[in-house]
Amino acid sequence: MKSSSDFRVTLLGTGVPTPRPDRYGPSTLIEAGDQKLLIDAGRGASIRLYQLHVPLGRLDALLLTHYHSDHTSGIPDVWLTGWLNSHFGTRTKPFRVIGPVGARTLMENLERAYALDIKIRIADEKLPPDGVAVEVEEFDSDGVVYEKNGVKVIAFEVDHGDVIKPAYGYRIEYAGRVAVISGDTRYSANVVKYGTGADLLVHEVAAARPELMKEAYIQRIVAHHVTPREAGRVFAQAKPKLAAFTHFVMLANERIPPPCLDDVLAETRQTYDGPLELGEDLMSFEIGETVTVHRYKR
Ligand SMILES: [Zn+2]
Ligand SMILES: [Zn+2]
Repeated sequence: MKSSSDFRVTLLGTGVPTPRPDRYGPSTLIEAGDQKLLIDAGRGASIRLYQLHVPLGRLDALLLTHYHSDHTSGIPDVWLTGWLNSHFGTRTKPFRVIGPVGARTLMENLERAYALDIKIRIADEKLPPDGVAVEVEEFDSDGVVYEKNGVKVIAFEVDHGDVIKPAYGYRIEYAGRVAVISGDTRYSANVVKYGTGADLLVHEVAAARPELMKEAYIQRIVAHHVTPREAGRVFAQAKPKLAAFTHFVMLANERIPPPCLDDVLAETRQTYDGPLELGEDLMSFEIGETVTVHRYKR
């Protein structure tokens, strides 16, 4: 089939800490050739993988962008449920985790927290100890962090605010095509640098209605992210074949509702007039000669 590609990016969760049922926690599945990589594992990542019929144990690696809990709270589920002896699990090799410094501490403490479950399942269900073992690789600067069977992943530092460090984005290269995931960041020249000419550039975004933007705590949150207008600047400079939003930080309080997606789109259009998708959970992008968008059919 000429038109289909074996390079696909799927937004598993396009949300933030808000426990919404329609936008799960941040997580993105990369499928390239025979490799399957997960970028972040927010709330519900394992449910979304199940909906796609991707066994949790089939993942080749989990790559982390940073350590805000909304990006990591799904890890124990993907790791431990992926070890179970069932069609949705089946991991028999170690769980590979790649991330900026901090990944090792996180995983070692999860192993400690779940030690009794692990001991019980090895004794009771005879699950293979190798399948629950964890292999961590940490990095502390821009560079290649994963390379296998034609898939190359490059980590690049982003700017999520002065104290939210480390924070990284990822550039995935396969078969001459490029997908870039911003991670959580405010306007970052590094996203433009690594995102320039990408086939797909997926960026986070934050917005609030003008009335709410007057609040100091809202300004503090927005200062850790990009506004639609700033994201538009990134897209206009990087000129990807397709730009897409994920990680919708839509701020609200008891009196003022969150902005709607049309507001986000309209504000982005002030600085960018190229191809743009507003991401949703399980939206996928098939990257070939062109980038084709697929919505999940329930
Ligand atoms: Zn964050
Ligand atoms: Zn986040």
